[in-house]
Amino acid sequence: MTFVARDTLGRPLRDLRISVTDRCNFRCTYCMPKEVFGRDFHFVPAAELLTFEEIERLAGIFSRLGVEKIRLTGGEPLLRRDIEKLVAMLARLPGIRDLTLTTNGALLARKAAALAAAGLRRISVSLDSLDDTVFRAMNDVDFPVDRVLEGIAAAQRAGLSPLKVNVVVKRGVNEHTLVDMARYFQHTGCILRFIEYMDVGTTNGWRLDEVVPADEIVARINERLPLEALEPNYRGEVARRYRYRDGSGEIGVIASVTQPFCGDCTRARLSSDGRLYTCLFAATGYDVRALLRGGQTDADIGAALQRVWSRRADRYSEIRSEQTGRLPKVEMSRIGG
Ligand code: SAM
Ligand code: SF4
Ligand code: SF4
Repeated sequence: MTFVARDTLGRPLRDLRISVTDRCNFRCTYCMPKEVFGRDFHFVPAAELLTFEEIERLAGIFSRLGVEKIRLTGGEPLLRRDIEKLVAMLARLPGIRDLTLTTNGALLARKAAALAAAGLRRISVSLDSLDDTVFRAMNDVDFPVDRVLEGIAAAQRAGLSPLKVNVVVKRGVNEHTLVDMARYFQHTGCILRFIEYMDVGTTNGWRLDEVVPADEIVARINERLPLEALEPNYRGEVARRYRYRDGSGEIGVIASVTQPFCGDCTRARLSSDGRLYTCLFAATGYDVRALLRGGQTDADIGAALQRVWSRRADRYSEIRSEQTGRLPKVEMSRIGG
């Protein structure tokens, strides 16, 4: 039986983001800057990662608390060996009506068909610019745009739809390439999602003046490619949606900095080492792995998770201005975007 857990602000637990690894083959400057995530950085050791069986068991328990949507993320989820096996295990869970994955696309050309065959329905691919020089500088490992585009094409051929393309926008870095991006993806069925640069973690040196507000992004695109606003698909949808007036497609903006949406936030995050975080900006997580490996029953674990959610009061983005820079926060690569 499903029981919908609610937090102190009445928000239900609906979405679970599962980070399957904290490792990544990119070093995006806004997420895993090289100076911090270098050779000496200590990633989670293999024995401490949740196994696929543990993730499957937890996902089942979460679904009985109301979770309907699961996103696999990281780090780079396609680096986790045999990730399609985990997809197949989660795709079989009765309560999960939406299973998706966010990837940087580097390994997608190789993996798309297997992911689709395993039961993945849709996917989000991150690509910050079509300008090769800009993109190579942003991923900071000199990875070319073309290889990500090959991954996107493979995902489309495999029927992963709708395919969303995430673009983190940084002032003075890729903002001048947004309209080109919009033009390229018109008529393709891919939905662009422009994301305000966020102050996740403590290592990316975030500054408010590097954020391009969502309204400005929309205005710039609308100037060249006229847009009209669309109604949200469902209450609490994170992206604000627009369609091109000529019917050639849809875009969205995620204004987590300038127009926070904590009031509708129904997301929990599970780190690769099995900690539960109730906010992207949380400093500490609840050790679920200890319960799994300590012989607790599903009912015990469900009750513990429900207790954690029922105490949740997080609304970091809404109170960011008072607190920025003063709170310790977990890194995004650890708990997943
Ligand atoms: N490696 C995969 C990828 O890049 O798609 C999945 C993990 S990544 C942490 C998930 C999403 O978070 C990506 O779309 C990425 O662009 C976004 N992201 C990372 N750091 C961010 C930041 N500081 N502000 C906004 N979005 C960020
Ligand atoms: Fe890796 Fe994704 Fe972070 Fe870039 S955004 S460093 S691809 S985890
Ligand atoms: Fe949810 Fe925390 Fe982001 Fe607010 S700041 S929307 S509570 S994850």
